[in-house]
Amino acid sequence: MPDLRRDPVVGRWVIISTERGVRPRDFVPDHQARQPAMGLCPFCPGQEKLTPQEVLAYRPQGGEPNTPGWTVRVIPNKFPALQVEGDMGREGIGLYDRMNGIGAHEVIIETEDHKTQLADGSAKQIEDVLWAYRDRVVDLKRDLRFRYILIFKNHGAAAGATMEHSHSQLIALPVVPTSVLNEIEGCRSHFQQKERCIYCDIVRQELSDAERIVAENPEFLAVTPFAPRFPFEVWILPKRHAAYFEESQKTQFELLARILSDSLRRMNRVLSFPAYNFILHNSPLHEKSGDFYHWHVELIPKLTQVAGFEWGTGFYINPVTPEEAAKFLREAEL
Ligand SMILES: [Zn+2]
Ligand SMILES: [Zn+2]
Repeated sequence: MPDLRRDPVVGRWVIISTERGVRPRDFVPDHQARQPAMGLCPFCPGQEKLTPQEVLAYRPQGGEPNTPGWTVRVIPNKFPALQVEGDMGREGIGLYDRMNGIGAHEVIIETEDHKTQLADGSAKQIEDVLWAYRDRVVDLKRDLRFRYILIFKNHGAAAGATMEHSHSQLIALPVVPTSVLNEIEGCRSHFQQKERCIYCDIVRQELSDAERIVAENPEFLAVTPFAPRFPFEVWILPKRHAAYFEESQKTQFELLARILSDSLRRMNRVLSFPAYNFILHNSPLHEKSGDFYHWHVELIPKLTQVAGFEWGTGFYINPVTPEEAAKFLREAEL
């Protein structure tokens, strides 16, 4: 059972997960993603028996679970950071707080084709992936032990991917992470002062400034944020106020798929296929944040290292202005 422990000073939770039985020599740097020999990839069709039983799959032609014929497949992570069965086991140990590492850790296999990356997929394929995110959030929300669901993608070894076959991940947590709480607090205090959502204000400001726009369509805006931590960081924001990603409508999934595909292809064009992280920032579960929180996506190409200064201060040194980054991305020929 993984262990969740809380830092008593800043309140940050960490997961101590020893499932993989890591030994000190396993930390010797390895800059290559583990690339299974072709045919042995557990995410490829025909290899379904190599993975835990699927929790969701789209099979347009029908067919049995855990057999080929799917276009998107969701499975529990074989090496989960958290474990789904058990009780919370919240306890104080002297000064310290800990609880059992309860949670869900799933892998969303985004395509049946081993070679197709998310950015190369059709808008329809990306839309199906977004529906899979939505369906899993709706299902996991019913488990009252969970307080937050994070959906993210690590693409490329430098961004933390260990499997080549295109996939994203979902982690349901029994606590709301500190970084999410900070964002929620900022939104709440803006709303208390002005009775407006800060992200709705950002959308209006960016549309009027226009110099940080990367792409837009009737429902979404992709921009480089005013104060980005990383070069070429891109946020994708719904233009209409919405706190819960999973409540999006069909048109919104279609148009999110398009702007996501567009933004990824622009990044690939300008930055020569960088490793990147994709993070879906959604409202915490069971929290009435509908008025003041606004879900969004953050895309972060992995171009710089987080080093001592950043760890020491929480400041980031970004060598590219967001205005310049947006111009490059906006003007990229697709
Ligand atoms: Zn594969
Ligand atoms: Zn809003």
